[in-house]
Amino acid sequence: MHSNSFLKPASRRAMLRDSATLAGSAFLAQLLPASLLRAAVPFPQQQNAPADPVAAFRAQMAANPIHPQTLAENLTLLSGPGGNVVVLNGTDGKIVVDTFVLPAWPKLKESLETIGEAPVKTVINTHWHFDHVDNNASLHAAGATILAHENTKKRMSEAHDLLVLGLHFPPSPADALPEQTFSTTRKMQANGQTLVLEHLPPAHTDTDIIVHFQKANVIHMGDTFFNGIYPYIDASTGGKVSGMIAAADKVLPLANDSTKIIPGHGPLGGKADLVKFRDMLVTVRDRIQKLKSSGKSAQEAVAAKPFADLEEAWGKGFFSGDVFVQILYTAL
Ligand SMILES: [Zn+2]
Repeated sequence: MHSNSFLKPASRRAMLRDSATLAGSAFLAQLLPASLLRAAVPFPQQQNAPADPVAAFRAQMAANPIHPQTLAENLTLLSGPGGNVVVLNGTDGKIVVDTFVLPAWPKLKESLETIGEAPVKTVINTHWHFDHVDNNASLHAAGATILAHENTKKRMSEAHDLLVLGLHFPPSPADALPEQTFSTTRKMQANGQTLVLEHLPPAHTDTDIIVHFQKANVIHMGDTFFNGIYPYIDASTGGKVSGMIAAADKVLPLANDSTKIIPGHGPLGGKADLVKFRDMLVTVRDRIQKLKSSGKSAQEAVAAKPFADLEEAWGKGFFSGDVFVQILYTAL
């Protein structure tokens, strides 16, 4: 199911134009080049639309270099080709959270080898989306066990169409599926660290977990946190904006002023960044709830420009406010 029906062609073109004007931002250029943003919203009138938008997404994301950053003694953040990967290194074997997009595999492999000689023992997926699970099969083939919430396995086993973005995903091959799953929480000890994995009520999807490295004071929130940019909320697999707010409310009491909070997309953050993100979500939810309750269609809501005052601070990442209005209309 595509969202194209939400908007008449003229509005679609206006939305596309608005999105394209964001292309100048350096941050956007790193996250998502303009051509990809256009590919992300499949307008029939669009010139040069890629034949395969998912492949275009993968290729563009994979073009980003990997930036390594030390989080703690044996904990490294790799940022770049489609999100934020965390690597816990040590003699017990590496534990890797998320996996980048498929064409980034040679770069990810090289980065993992640079971190240390230990093989990857466990791969943890924060949720089912392609830019987080794409290299499961390669890591599995290299000897790793894939671990995720049981809904991640379920969602990866099904075909899905992402609303508003119009991206289609067939079921994942068997060798990419998580081999170990859990339903509520899972605790692990490895390489001197304690990891607590916890499933969240439906937020970005119904598959989301947070990964808390307690000793290192690091929390990976997957895509329940986009730092400094409007998030995607995947209503096709249970995502809800109220759940996104609840996810922030769950993590904030676990954090202090030194906690490193890793978003699914955007730069490494802290407690203050997550508070700002949460407050933005409350604001946009309340505004969209009001518009929807008053009987406005998504098209009318976009035309009302309800996020005009937020655009400068939040609208320079994946989505303009116009696109985010549509996403929220699916995810109240
Ligand atoms: Zn996601």
